[in-house]
Amino acid sequence: MTGFSLELTEDQIELRDWIHGFAADVIRPAAAEWDEREQTPWPVLQEAAKAGLYSLDFYANQWFDETGLGIPIAMEEMFWGDAGIGLALSGTGLAAVSVVSNGTPEQVGEWVPQMFGTADDVKLGAFCSSEPDAGSDVGAMRTRAVYDEAADEWVLNGTKTWATNGGIANVHVIVATVDPALGTRGHASFIVPPGTKGLSQGQKFKKHGIRASHTAEVVLDDCRIPGSCLLGGKEKLDARLARAREGVSSRGNASMATFEASRPAVGAMAVGIARAAYEYSLDYAKTRVQFGKPIVENQAVAFKLADMKTAVDASRLLVWRAAWMARNGKAFDSAEGSMSKLFASETCKWVTADAIQILGGNGFTREYPVERMHRDSAIYTIFEGTSEIQRLVIARTISGAAIR
Ligand SMILES: Cc1cc2nc3c(=O)[nH]c(=O)nc-3n(C[C@H](O)[C@H](O)[C@H](O)COP(=O)(O)OP(=O)(O)OC[C@H]3O[C@@H](n4cnc5c(N)ncnc54)[C@H](O)[C@@H]3O)c2cc1C
Repeated sequence: MTGFSLELTEDQIELRDWIHGFAADVIRPAAAEWDEREQTPWPVLQEAAKAGLYSLDFYANQWFDETGLGIPIAMEEMFWGDAGIGLALSGTGLAAVSVVSNGTPEQVGEWVPQMFGTADDVKLGAFCSSEPDAGSDVGAMRTRAVYDEAADEWVLNGTKTWATNGGIANVHVIVATVDPALGTRGHASFIVPPGTKGLSQGQKFKKHGIRASHTAEVVLDDCRIPGSCLLGGKEKLDARLARAREGVSSRGNASMATFEASRPAVGAMAVGIARAAYEYSLDYAKTRVQFGKPIVENQAVAFKLADMKTAVDASRLLVWRAAWMARNGKAFDSAEGSMSKLFASETCKWVTADAIQILGGNGFTREYPVERMHRDSAIYTIFEGTSEIQRLVIARTISGAAIR
């Protein structure tokens, strides 16, 4: 048995420093421009693909890291660079996780590479679960998947909303209900291959933050896909549906498994934004002089920074613990994945707000990055399950009570 250590390995340090360099040299300088343009930053994606940072290999290497820390380290550095561009670079990874979590090895091998494309021909993936009337309440999902046995095809109908890369992705993962009477247990995930008729982009949203990341509705109108595009396969689905109809308890469904695997990674993104805002405001506080001395020499300012640093580090530790647990198959007996996302995202929101306060009037302008960081932070208490939903999950898990 090896001793306990929080020291990163040489490989992890190399990974961190490599992504930090890319974030400092490529992502940060482009951040303000793409935030204003509110478009997918294709040139940055291409550069990341050429550097090997936007690729299936990159994610696969991190998945092999037995500590589970590869993805959190990568996300923290990328989002330290910029959250909008960070999400443009990692949205495909979130979609890929849903295929890896629910698909067969053949499906993973076929579809995940097509989500990334190649360095010369960069592509995107999208994960589409949310609907206009089914956000936190995933069980209210209406998008239907009906099996056409004669043609061995699934027919998808419905409207997805808030899809990151929705409509511009090469490969879409669609969560749909195959049996509405079963609630979330009647859900299944499907691949919509590139160029499939019946899938179109609806409204593209103009957002408060993470504006370099494309968010849109995805409309499915008699969208026919091959039977082989059901993630996990028909036999597994039929067995799962039969168990649900017989009332046999389950340990979760496909989309919940996806969220469980991705929550620490989303927490790590929030850590990256918060750390960036903390570092920026610390530097500012040391150089901004008022009343004849740097403002950091006022306890009111310095204590803010002390609290910011403490909370950022505590967030990272919660994220690392959850990522390690996920990688090592530990049971989330206290919903540690949700804890990490809840704490990191709430921390991100107040730390970026305090960063604005420390910069004073400058912090309130788009001339300084903390204004953008604060706008970007707001999504972290909303997507991948709102903070209220994380608390609900944690409270139910620790108490076993039917908390509403
Ligand atoms: C920029 C962006 C990108 C996104 N990307 C994706 C994506 O790629 N794929 C995808 O599928 N989805 C995506 N989402 C959707 C996101 O996951 C949902 O917005 C989120 O789950 C919340 O759903 P909602 O917006 O419908 O809010 P609602 O569910 O309507 O919630 C509104 C408020 O009510 C509270 N609330 C709801 N139910 C309860 C309850 N039981 N107890 C206490 N409070 C409650 C919520 O916490 C929240 O404060 C994205 C959203 C955004 C904004």
